[in-house]
Amino acid sequence: MSEVVGIDLGTTNSLAAKIIDGKPVVLKDSSGNGLVPSVISFHSDGSVLVGTEAKARSLTDPLHTIFSVKRLMGRSLEDLKSVIGLIPQAIHETDAGEGRKVLCVDIGGKSHTPEELSAIILREVRRRAGNPIRAVITVPAHFDESQRQATRDAGKIAGLEVLRIINEPTAAALAYGLDRRRKGTIAVYDFGGGTFDCTILNLQDGVFRVLSTGGDTRLGGDDIDRMLMSLLLGEMGLDSKDADPTLLQNLRDLSERAKIALSDAETTTVSLPPSQQYPTGKTREISRGEFEELILPLVKKSLDRCRVALRDAKKTQTQIDEVALVGGSTRIPLIRRLVGEFFGRKPHTELNPDEAVALGAAIQGDILTGNRRQTLLLDVVPLSLGIVTFGGAVSKLIHRNTTIPARATERFTTAVDNQTAVEINIVQGERELAKDCRNLGRFKLSGIPPMPAQMAQVDVTFLIDADGLLTVSAKEQRSGQEAKVSVKPAHGLTDEEVERMVLESVDHARDDFRARRLIELKAKGATLVSHTKRTLSRSDLTIDPDERKLIEGAVAGVEQSSQTDDITTAEAGDKLNAAINHLSEVTLPLATRVMDETAKQVLSERAPEQVTTGLIS
Ligand code: ADP
Ligand code: MG
Repeated sequence: MSEVVGIDLGTTNSLAAKIIDGKPVVLKDSSGNGLVPSVISFHSDGSVLVGTEAKARSLTDPLHTIFSVKRLMGRSLEDLKSVIGLIPQAIHETDAGEGRKVLCVDIGGKSHTPEELSAIILREVRRRAGNPIRAVITVPAHFDESQRQATRDAGKIAGLEVLRIINEPTAAALAYGLDRRRKGTIAVYDFGGGTFDCTILNLQDGVFRVLSTGGDTRLGGDDIDRMLMSLLLGEMGLDSKDADPTLLQNLRDLSERAKIALSDAETTTVSLPPSQQYPTGKTREISRGEFEELILPLVKKSLDRCRVALRDAKKTQTQIDEVALVGGSTRIPLIRRLVGEFFGRKPHTELNPDEAVALGAAIQGDILTGNRRQTLLLDVVPLSLGIVTFGGAVSKLIHRNTTIPARATERFTTAVDNQTAVEINIVQGERELAKDCRNLGRFKLSGIPPMPAQMAQVDVTFLIDADGLLTVSAKEQRSGQEAKVSVKPAHGLTDEEVERMVLESVDHARDDFRARRLIELKAKGATLVSHTKRTLSRSDLTIDPDERKLIEGAVAGVEQSSQTDDITTAEAGDKLNAAINHLSEVTLPLATRVMDETAKQVLSERAPEQVTTGLIS
């Protein structure tokens, strides 16, 4: 099995790790940098910079430089109200039909979806890892279905087969080896560049479970930089609104550097060289004491969030057995100290806090390929899931913080007489009214026999598998009619759009494309083969011996063509594709016969359909 890379796709920094000689290792560029700043800058000559060079331009050329793309992933314009001010580019939503919307960022004279932008970052990270095909990518524990799906799609556009999306805190706990204790409760305190997350994990017999998540999507190291920056600007008698961009960029970089220096030194000096706008330049000494006083409110705010997470997990500080620090900002001594005091124990700091998540993702990749002790990673549903009932209220089936995999069934009935079909709308959120929740998708259950209101019995089942994919099904008990959907978020890209982006993506190496195509064709072939074999073994079907022989030959053809990993040319993929097409062709008459029989049963008797949205409980 090919190697799997673990990727931490961060708001501020992204990085990859791989297992080398049994140990997870962060992959670095030639100058020893593991972190790739999650910043992209587009140039008029068509070139695209990613990482450190792009970050250096974020304030001098704000319109062509984008950062914090992660905040946009899987979000609608409506969701983004509170953060849109932080992003200098024009952001709009295009209507993709059937109520589905796609978010676009205008940059470099072109519209890009957040998925495409994240894919640019992923591709850069991937290149460092030697262009692997398979990946485990991490997301914050509070990410909802749309955000996770958008991350999966970004991976696909970057030419990756995303084996699994896992929660960042779970990855961090794994990196710290906390799965080695038999049981316990773990707090993961993650103070990154733009966001803060606190997660309470439970560990039982080597199985992780997220008990609760808390945090603030607008609290991070950037805020500390901004505080230092406004301190300096204030003393210079300037306002950030009238300072010129180059000066601002300089001050921002100096502030971040001073902050980082103060994690090791007791004092540091900021030296701003003279510039046109500020001819005298500025030199300012900052002590750790002054710095700590400045940032204390931010740290306290983060601890308030920890308190909420503890409350949601129904735990007290004394019940926490381990505390892990994650995120670059936890290098700040004040944070280490206060977090330690808050939880009443010394936090784990053995790993580089900005690398722990990627290291854990690499370990998870290793587990998935069967190379490691079997640790199950259970996650929780970040937000409640339910359906819209008649009149627009929400009936929740799976509550927030439920462990996945999860299943819940509830019985509903029809609201009006002779209702022969019902539209089931799936929503996610904590609010009581559907209009305040996120729409995840909808489907129709048809063929309910006409009967008076409240006579029908519709069982709605929500099933979330270990990968967090949601399937909703509905079954009317009297008639046996059934319908189901696998939920694809109402916001975001369709498979076809992702596919097109994959093909369009500029530096998508041919080899990657071939390898991925082969993986997908193999999966397609395997499904078709198993389906065909199942049909061939059905005793209720009469199959002519010649037809059977023809089909069996085609099955063998697919099986044979699947036995290759050769991607030096497109030939292996083409051959497999042809074998699959041949199998589809020769099974067509049989498939049609099977379909006809099923349809005959279903169509036996049907009244004109009357669709109503929503059931009642
Ligand atoms: P994210 O998870 O948000 O992508 P990281 O975990 O990489 O980000 O954290 C980035 C933040 O950590 C930045 O604000 C950076 O300035 C800060 N940081 C990195 N090193 C230090 C340090 N030694 N002291 C204080 N802050 C640091
Ligand atoms: Mg992070």
